[in-house]
Amino acid sequence: MIPMLDLKAQYEALRPTLEPALSEALAATQFVLGPNVQAFETEVASYLGARHAITCASGTDALHLALDAAGIGPGDEVITTPFTFIATAEAICYVGATPVFADIDPGTWNIDPAAVEAAITPRTRAILPVHLFGQPADMDALNRIACNHELLVIEDCAQSFGASTPAGMTGTRGLAGCFSFFPSKNLGCYGDGGLITTNDDAMAERLRIQRNHGQTRRYHHEFIGYNSRLDELQAVVLRHKLPHIDRWNAERRRVADRYDAGLADLPVTCPIRDGAGTHVFHQYTLLSSARDAIAEALNAAGIGNAIYYPVPLHRQPAFGAAAVSHDLAHAEDVARRCLSLPMFPELDNERVDRVCDAIRQALDG
Ligand SMILES: *Cc1c(COP(=O)(O)O)cnc(C)c1O
Repeated sequence: MIPMLDLKAQYEALRPTLEPALSEALAATQFVLGPNVQAFETEVASYLGARHAITCASGTDALHLALDAAGIGPGDEVITTPFTFIATAEAICYVGATPVFADIDPGTWNIDPAAVEAAITPRTRAILPVHLFGQPADMDALNRIACNHELLVIEDCAQSFGASTPAGMTGTRGLAGCFSFFPSKNLGCYGDGGLITTNDDAMAERLRIQRNHGQTRRYHHEFIGYNSRLDELQAVVLRHKLPHIDRWNAERRRVADRYDAGLADLPVTCPIRDGAGTHVFHQYTLLSSARDAIAEALNAAGIGNAIYYPVPLHRQPAFGAAAVSHDLAHAEDVARRCLSLPMFPELDNERVDRVCDAIRQALDG
């Protein structure tokens, strides 16, 4: 058995120091927005190189709050990718705006800046790129387009914690960066959690008020806000994990290198690294026209695998007429052929080789 993801190994390693810290936080009984949340916000802002870091209840909320704080609402269009988790576009609908799906680059599977430019209308207010599977989107090109057309850029960094570009880490390249600490993400807590980063002081202030019912002073409310806060226990977990994230992301790259080498002579397309930033391999995803046969063989061998994502968002009944779709041929093609393999920092080379062998056998047989 080789699972897609094994959180147990990491937990066991952290346990000796983590459990006493959790007990201490429990005994302090300051469960929401307590001192550990405050300390984590300072530490994570410093790690990411962002002026401000505001925690919230989930990655989905981070996107929702950021779009709301940016003033995006009914009548506005937000250009995004159809090849992502649904939360990216759901958040656009939450604020009453319209998701506009532009096609992905066939190499990186991130949103294609040329397709973004072609999708701009007088109603376009923002671009919402996703750093898919941990690879930074082309922020230089997207920021150039945003600047020329006076658009905002909000980054979906749910899969890219720790990924950097030469001009800064993901989450610091646009107006706001939205992170998820869902347990399976590169930096995950033990429940739900999220974060918004920004270098804009006014945006940060609005976000801090907004996540806590629009409250400026106790029981004084400036505007309609949300209940979207991080709890102390999650902050303790995140403070424990943050110092290890670079090492864990390096281990993910080791696993990816090993897959690249083990699959090099097979008729599959390995994920490319476009060199514009560091890839943190939230997922290792290959393309193959024999995708389903490979998946079947891996299942039979007790090896985890998953299709991220089988149905691009423009094909989801959820959006109906609430979204606009352009020519999305690349997204459709990738959705038909993609397969993600086991990926986590503790996955040793011997197990990576076994996954590669199973794929070789599936393609030979
Ligand atoms: C996980 C994820 C989200 C949502 O994060 P949650 O914390 O689960 O709400 C948003 N966007 C992408 C790309 C994700 O992978």
